[in-house]
Amino acid sequence: MGKSENVPCSLEMFGHTYVVEYRDGMPEDATIGLCNPADTVISINKNIAPSMQEVTLLHEIVEAVSIMNELNLPHPHITCLATNLYHILKENNLYFPSEEKD
Ligand SMILES: [Zn+2]
Repeated sequence: MGKSENVPCSLEMFGHTYVVEYRDGMPEDATIGLCNPADTVISINKNIAPSMQEVTLLHEIVEAVSIMNELNLPHPHITCLATNLYHILKENNLYFPSEEKD
């Protein structure tokens, strides 16, 4: 499986730079993706389809929002938000580029 070209190598979130890494092996309880705010790392299983990598990135971003804001969102809510947002953003080609920074 190849790496999705739409998944960046890093993300700016909450004043921190998160590294987005691809891993061959994942812990058993998180076979697709992982978010580690303490290390500012999002891990994505590199052996899944590119579209699954994309929705997994969105899922881990929602996980980070939940953790950093102490929302304690139930995991099915995180999955629901990420899956539905992914579908809507993708089907409508929604993209909101920021102004170029100097
Ligand atoms: Zn999750």
